[in-house]
Amino acid sequence: MEQMRKAPVIAETHCHTIACGHAYSTLYENAQAAAAKGIEFLCLTDHAPAMEDGPHHWFFKNIVNVVPDRLAGVNILKGAEVNILDYEGKLDLPDEYLKKLDWVIASYHIVCIEPGSKEDCTKGWLAIAENPLVDVIGHCGDSRYPFDHQKVVQAFAKHGKIVEINAHSFSCRPGTLENCREIAQWCKHYNVPVVCSSDAHFFTQIGEVDQALNMLREIDYPEELILNLDRERFLSIAREKTGKSFD
Ligand SMILES: [Zn+2]
Ligand SMILES: [Zn+2]
Repeated sequence: MEQMRKAPVIAETHCHTIACGHAYSTLYENAQAAAAKGIEFLCLTDHAPAMEDGPHHWFFKNIVNVVPDRLAGVNILKGAEVNILDYEGKLDLPDEYLKKLDWVIASYHIVCIEPGSKEDCTKGWLAIAENPLVDVIGHCGDSRYPFDHQKVVQAFAKHGKIVEINAHSFSCRPGTLENCREIAQWCKHYNVPVVCSSDAHFFTQIGEVDQALNMLREIDYPEELILNLDRERFLSIAREKTGKSFD
């Protein structure tokens, strides 16, 4: 692995592999890149099957049996980025799979759900908030899915959700910076924890979250609520989510 600069985070909470056709690294390459950057936890979150080039659902059933908990010296959380399919909160993996996964991100993707009204998207996030099998709210700053930020973040607080600030979205999803700033302000108000992720589709992007962190620092978002900045903090959430000790 080539020389890589140290990442600003201790955990990469969102990455993709060649299991989906539009990403270009293996999970081992991602783990090696994480190790080279001083990252200790890597969440594998490939797109669930409703994404056109996502892997078959067996991929998510089998990952928990096949992939080791530690790879290239990095702790591995086996997860998925599930697609929200309607504004009632329907997801594209069965509950029995989600129960076994370590880290479940739920996201709206343009190829899986037509953008709805503010009322629709609010309703969708409120349903996701109530789903105990979802751990993380994926890139919700996308302006194509507008929602009532205060009401929804309040529900995330009530149901213990983690909000992702996705650095990749700043360059590819319209309106992300302004929306994320406002969402993060409400997270600060209601003490909702966040993670900064890269959403890497190639190993060189692992741990590259500067834009997300910079925005949080600009609004004085509390460091202690950024779960992947500190080893002990992330270890405790990883233990809670997986029931594994990771020591
Ligand atoms: Zn996504
Ligand atoms: Zn993603």
